[in-house]
Amino acid sequence: MLASDSKRISSAVVAALCAAVAVTALASRADEPARAADRFDRVVLDAGHGGDDHGAEGPAGLLEKELVLDVTRRLKARIESDGVRVVLTRDDDVYVPLDERTAIANRAGADLFVSIHANAASARSARGVEIFFVALEASDDAARQLAERENAAFREASPASPDDPLASILGDLAAADQLRESDEFARLANKEVAALAASVPSRGVKQAPFVVLMGVSMPAALVEIGFITNPAEERDLASPRYRDRVADALARAVFEFADRYDARRGVPRPARDHEPAKSSRDEAATQGGG
Ligand SMILES: [Zn+2]
Repeated sequence: MLASDSKRISSAVVAALCAAVAVTALASRADEPARAADRFDRVVLDAGHGGDDHGAEGPAGLLEKELVLDVTRRLKARIESDGVRVVLTRDDDVYVPLDERTAIANRAGADLFVSIHANAASARSARGVEIFFVALEASDDAARQLAERENAAFREASPASPDDPLASILGDLAAADQLRESDEFARLANKEVAALAASVPSRGVKQAPFVVLMGVSMPAALVEIGFITNPAEERDLASPRYRDRVADALARAVFEFADRYDARRGVPRPARDHEPAKSSRDEAATQGGG
């Protein structure tokens, strides 16, 4: 029930946003004809939090900032093995303001931005993966609260701003194509994560006004890789093997997105030298995926 409701809301929000940004999209396209023919060759991965900003903390002490940096590094290695360049917004236990993260992504001229986080809830039983792309309105109350928590670093960094920082960033909200592609990547990632195992329930694709997603001029999604506050899920998330599986799933989503991205732009894909993921790709194909 929840899933179909949020899907309907998401569609309505996408339609509204597409209409709102269409004029901006036309204006900016005229100045940037070259970029459209570019092959998918660059990804920015954003490990949430860092430094004094620990993010969420599990009952056994696992810190979101450490977990997401490790998963981000594993995902980077997989993506680079396919010849795609990866830029990290942080590769250390350091605090990087949200607007600096988006600036790094925009400077890199990346084709995709993926922010990696871990979820938290007061109910210890909450579990599963959630994938978000940006919207003015959250798809439900939980999504709104989550965005407020993940945006906290931004609000602390800009206390003196006379205007609502969210409002000023919304002025730069990306073009309609970018939003559609963000939606597409989120759904591919959701499909791959859902295929991991029954023990990794996917909570679906949702939308919320995450600051870090609003500032980037490329398709972007935020992945909450599990609830660090759930004792069983915290144990899973602490295991290197489980982290590898999450990274594998997200890498497959990136590769599938890359294929579609290039196909839409009429760019032939180079031969894949990423053989390790072949068996799982074949599995996905037999299930009718892609
Ligand atoms: Zn977080």
